[in-house]
Amino acid sequence: MSNYISDSSNLHWMVSNPARTTRTGMDGKSFRCPFCADNESDTPPETYRAGEGEPNKPGWQVRVFANLFPITDIHEVVVHSPDHEKNIENFSLEQVENIIKTYINRFNFFKEKGKVFIFHNYSLISGASLVHPHSQISVVPNDIPTNTIAVQPAINIIEQNNDFVSYCPEYSEWSYEIWIKALGQSKFEDLKDSEIKNLANILQLMIKKLKKIHSKNSHYSKKPFGYNFYISPNDPWYLRIIPRFMERAGFELSTGIMVNSIEAKRASEELRKMV
Ligand SMILES: [Zn+2]
Repeated sequence: MSNYISDSSNLHWMVSNPARTTRTGMDGKSFRCPFCADNESDTPPETYRAGEGEPNKPGWQVRVFANLFPITDIHEVVVHSPDHEKNIENFSLEQVENIIKTYINRFNFFKEKGKVFIFHNYSLISGASLVHPHSQISVVPNDIPTNTIAVQPAINIIEQNNDFVSYCPEYSEWSYEIWIKALGQSKFEDLKDSEIKNLANILQLMIKKLKKIHSKNSHYSKKPFGYNFYISPNDPWYLRIIPRFMERAGFELSTGIMVNSIEAKRASEELRKMV
C-alpha cells in the first residue's frame, strides 16, 4: 500500500511504499530482463498491447502491465518495444506513435480514478532501475496535492509543426529542458491520429537534438546520456523533457531554488541549429 505523508505545514507531501526496496535489478543479483520479448511470464498479466499476438505472448510492439513495485496504488509499466536497447530516438515514427496511443489509452482508462501522470526515465542516471526502455503510468488520488508546474508561455521556439511547438521557457529549471505544447486547444486524451503523428515527430526530433548536445559537450559526456519526460495532467497539458546533464546539489535542496546556468534563450538557439 502507498502511504502518503505530509509535513507539519501540510504544504509538502511524500509517498512511501516499502515494497519498492526489493525492486528487480536493485538487489545486485543477476536476472533476465522481464521486459524483453519471450519473457512475458516474468511480469504481471498485461492490461494493454499494441501489435499482434495473444496476451502475454510475443508479437507485441508496446506492452502494458501493473508495476510489480508501485509508487502509487494504481501504477503501470509501458514497455516501449521488444528491443532491450532501442528507444524513442532510434524507433520508426510509427513505433513512437504506438507509444503515444498507448499513453492515451491508459490515460482515458484511469482518468476517473485520480490524476494520471505519464513519465519516462531514460537510463540509470535519470532514476530508471531497469535499462529496457519503458514509461510509467501513475495515478495520484485527487485529494493528494501535487505540485506540477503550470504550462509556461511558448517563447524561445525550437521547432513548430501544424499542431505542436517545442520551446525553452524562460522559467527553465534544468539546462536545455524542452517543453512541447499543442498550438490549439486539443486535450491529450482526445488527440487525433494526425496530431499523434505530429507529436511523435516533434518528440523524437527533440530527443535526437538533446543527444547531440550531450555528445558535443565533452564535460557532459563523462556521464551517459539520460533524461526524464512527463506529460502534465493539468489543463492545458504539456510534455516536458528534462535532460540529466547536471545534478541537483545542496543549494537546490536547501532553498528549493533551482540553479540553471544555461540561459533558456541560448539553449533554444543551440537546439534550433542542431541538426
Ligand atoms: Zn529487455
